[in-house]
Amino acid sequence: MLGHVDHGKTSLLDKIRGSTVIEGEAGAITQHIGATAVPLDVVGEVAGSLVDPTEFDLPGLLFIDTPGHHSFTTLRSRGGALADIAILVVDVNDGFQPQTEEAIKILADSETPFVVAANKVDTIPGWQVTEDAPIQQTLEAQSDRVEQQFNEKLYEIIGELSDAGFTSDFYWRVQDFRSNVGVVPVSAMTGEGIPDLLAVLMGLAQRYMKEDMEIDVTGPGAGTVLEVKEERGFGTTLDVILYDGTVRADDTVVVGGVNGPIVTDVRALLKPRPLAEIRTESRFEKVDEIAAAAGVKIAAPDLDDAIAGAPVRVVRNRDLDDVIADVQAELAEVAVDTGEEGVVVKADTLGSLEAMANALDEAEIPMMRAEVGDIAPRDVAMATTVEEEEYRAILGFNVDVLGDAADRAEQDDVEVFESDVIYQLVEEYEGFVEEIERRQK
Ligand code: GDP
Repeated sequence: MLGHVDHGKTSLLDKIRGSTVIEGEAGAITQHIGATAVPLDVVGEVAGSLVDPTEFDLPGLLFIDTPGHHSFTTLRSRGGALADIAILVVDVNDGFQPQTEEAIKILADSETPFVVAANKVDTIPGWQVTEDAPIQQTLEAQSDRVEQQFNEKLYEIIGELSDAGFTSDFYWRVQDFRSNVGVVPVSAMTGEGIPDLLAVLMGLAQRYMKEDMEIDVTGPGAGTVLEVKEERGFGTTLDVILYDGTVRADDTVVVGGVNGPIVTDVRALLKPRPLAEIRTESRFEKVDEIAAAAGVKIAAPDLDDAIAGAPVRVVRNRDLDDVIADVQAELAEVAVDTGEEGVVVKADTLGSLEAMANALDEAEIPMMRAEVGDIAPRDVAMATTVEEEEYRAILGFNVDVLGDAADRAEQDDVEVFESDVIYQLVEEYEGFVEEIERRQK
C-alpha cells in the first residue's frame, strides 16, 4: 500500500481487515507480523458476486502493513519481491501529491504491477452512501450531477497517471491490466468499492502467479526485513516478510546489516497470538517452521546492525559463503552509482536512502553514489574523485563515521555532513555550496 500521507493507506487496510474479520469465521484471518492473510473464501464473501472462489487456484491475499514511520519503498529486489502487487492510494480530492509521484517512480523502476485506489469517494458533495457495496451499485444510487463529479475526479487521476507515463482507465473498462492501470474508486470510510478492489487484486494475483512467479515453499527461505525491533525477553528481533521457501527454528540465516551481511542462528520464530490468547508475558507463540507468503518475527543474536529493507536468507543445505555473497550482492544492488560527479550519500536503511536520493533530486544536487551503511574510508576515496576539490562532500543520514574515515576526510579535505533529518542535510549542503560560490566571486 503506497501513497501520499493522509490519503488513506492505513484506513484502507483497516477497512479490508475489518470487513474480512466480520465476514470470515473466527480464526480464518491470520494476523502475521506486519501482514494480514485473507484466505480465498473470505475474499469471496466480501467481494460477493465479483469473485467466484472456484475460479482461483490461490490461497488468498497477504496484505503487508508497511511501517508508516519511514518511507519504506523497496518493493522488489534482486532475489524476489517483497510485494508482488501494489495498491497506490490517491485521495480523489487531493489528486497526485509529492509522495504519490515518488511512489509512481518506484513502481515504474521496480516494474511492480499496481492498481490505483481512488479513495474517499464518499466525500464527493451530495454522495449517497451505499455501505460496502460494489461500484456499479454505488453509482446507481447517485444523482447525475454527483456521478458527473465522480467522473471528473477519476479523469483527473487518469490524466495524472498519463503524465507519469502510465495508460489507465476506470477498472471495469480495462481489458489487460498489464498494459493498463486499473483505477478503482473506493471509500475506506464506507467500504464502497472494497469488493471491487479485492476482485481486481485477485485477478492480478492469478495472472501474475501464472506468468511470472515461481515459489518453492519447501526450499530455504528468502525474505525481507520490515522492521528491526527490541522485544522484551528476546533482545533485538526482526520482523520479516517471507516471500519464498521456509524458515525453521534451527536454521542459520544471513541478514543484510549496516556493515555487511550478518550470519546468525535463529533462536526463536515468533507469531503473534490471537488477541483472545494474549497473556501478559507472551504476546507471541513460538513456531517450529514458517512458510512463504507470511510475516514472522525472528529472534537471534547479533541483530543490532540489521537494516530494514535488507534481505534475509536461510543457509540450510547451501554453502554459507554463497549465501553471504548473495546477500552482499543484493545490498550492493541498492548502491546507486550515477556516473556523474556529485555528493556521496550514506544512509541507515534502504528506505531512507531512497528518500535522500529523492530529496537531492528535488533540490537539484548532483549525486555520485548512494549506499546503505556507515561512512567508511572508501567513501572518502570516492568523494576525492570529484574534480573540483572544494565540492567534495559526503552526506550521512542516521549513520556513524568510522574512525579511519574521519581522519582520512580531514586529510583529503572532504566535507562530511551528518544528520538524522533529511532536509537539514540538504540545507547544510546548500549553505556549503553557497559559501564556495560567494568566495569564488
Ligand atoms: P494514511 O496517512 O495514508 O495512512 O491515511 P489515513 O488512513 O491515516 O487517513 C487519513 C485521514 O483520512 C483520516 O482522518 C481518515 O479517517 C480519513 N480517511 C481515510 N479514508 C477515508 C475515506 O475513504 N473517506 C473519508 N471521508 N475519510 C477518509
